[in-house]
Amino acid sequence: MKIVMVGSGYVGLVSGACLADFGHDVTCIDKLEGKIEALKRGEIPIFEPGLADLVKTNAAAGRLSFTTDLSGPVSRADAVFIAVGTPSRRGDGFADLSYVYAAAREIAQALDGYTVIVTKSTVPVGTGDEVERIVRELRPEADFAVVSNPEFLREGAAIEDFKRPDRIVIGTEDLRAQGVMGDVYRPLYLNSAPILNTSRRTAELTKYAANAFLATKITFINEMADLCEQVGANVQDVARGMGLDNRIGSKFLHAGPGYGGSCFPKDTLALIKTAQDYGTPTRIVETVAAVNDQRKRAMGRKVVAACGGSVRDKTIAVLGLTFKPGTDDMRDAPSLSIVTALQDAGARIRAFDPEGMEQAKALLPPEVIYCADAYECVAGADAAVIVTEWNIFRALDLDRVRSLMNAAVLVDLRNVYRAEQVRAKGFTYVDIGRGVLE
Ligand code: NAD
Repeated sequence: MKIVMVGSGYVGLVSGACLADFGHDVTCIDKLEGKIEALKRGEIPIFEPGLADLVKTNAAAGRLSFTTDLSGPVSRADAVFIAVGTPSRRGDGFADLSYVYAAAREIAQALDGYTVIVTKSTVPVGTGDEVERIVRELRPEADFAVVSNPEFLREGAAIEDFKRPDRIVIGTEDLRAQGVMGDVYRPLYLNSAPILNTSRRTAELTKYAANAFLATKITFINEMADLCEQVGANVQDVARGMGLDNRIGSKFLHAGPGYGGSCFPKDTLALIKTAQDYGTPTRIVETVAAVNDQRKRAMGRKVVAACGGSVRDKTIAVLGLTFKPGTDDMRDAPSLSIVTALQDAGARIRAFDPEGMEQAKALLPPEVIYCADAYECVAGADAAVIVTEWNIFRALDLDRVRSLMNAAVLVDLRNVYRAEQVRAKGFTYVDIGRGVLE
């Protein structure tokens, strides 16, 4: 099949490379010339495990190509995926659909023969209707269908998620389009991935409902963690005791500094706005978003408390900047709020992240000092804070860390260490929700 991916970011590039790996003929498009030129040279603009090899193999096999001009590839395509960004709109937090609609207009001009236009971007209910209206208005005679096919991959495990998804949601009532989508994903039937055929609006909402539920689960356990600290209970044991119940499940019950990343914050906000617009507010999700927002900055206060109530003129080593391990994505990472809160309180920040520092430099204040590794980062620091649970922070040489630091204070916002083990090394150790009553 001939497939076009409009937008070659985390989702477009991974989806494009995986679909090429299934044997389809895929063209990835992006507006950014630099990105496309780099991809043509075999350079991958993002960090995603396994992606470089997948792109290289499929490009060499002639199944995956890159261009900035969508007209030729779209005119020959069976399916055109829209995988552009849908960030929060400035001001009101609703999803900014300008990139989606711009892509729809460009695609419309290039259509030739029956084509399925697929929104893979996360878009609010009704966006598919608007994409259809835009294309129909520009090309009344065109033969096309608009399908919603939301993406559920996780950064850091994106290829595995795309190739072995828990489910594929295909939102269309057009049987011909359903057939084309069936052909696109046929290789996955072999992996017996469940395909859920739904209406377009149902598919659009399913994606938001799933993300809002996951955000709720995280926020729930974070609040339990705060309670654990007050009552002298251990949130990891509480989570395990809850999660072993099949009705609850153990995933997404890890207490931490609050959810971040390129999806949960913006998708919860967009769902809240949509629900308000339709007169059916989602109070639970509204609360989740508000609680999570406050939590990130509160983590800064937790560090201040661990430092005896003040960080003025103290040096804080921040270990991990990305919103989770396995990615270089810094969008809405909790580290952004934590670093700013600490700087506001008068601290100097040293930071290290294995993959995210280039992206972090664009988002964090210029005073942050970036270090080459964890040990350089903690040198001379009055406290070290584990913000992202990269594997390399799980097995630090604590004696070496202690000898390098000015004061042995470790704030572990991901609960990667055992308290006794760290305290035995002479550290003041603060974690999340593993309270011990004094
Ligand atoms: P991204 O910002 O990494 O990539 C989007 C790309 O689209 C950019 O490279 C941009 O230059 C390009 N683009 C914008 N307008 C274009 C146009 N008219 N023509 C060609 N290219 C254009 O975004 P992303 O993280 O890949 O997310 C894309 C969508 O997928 C979003 O709606 C997001 O919510 C959703 N999603 C993301 C993830 C994730 O983990 N990142 C997971 C599931 C769903």
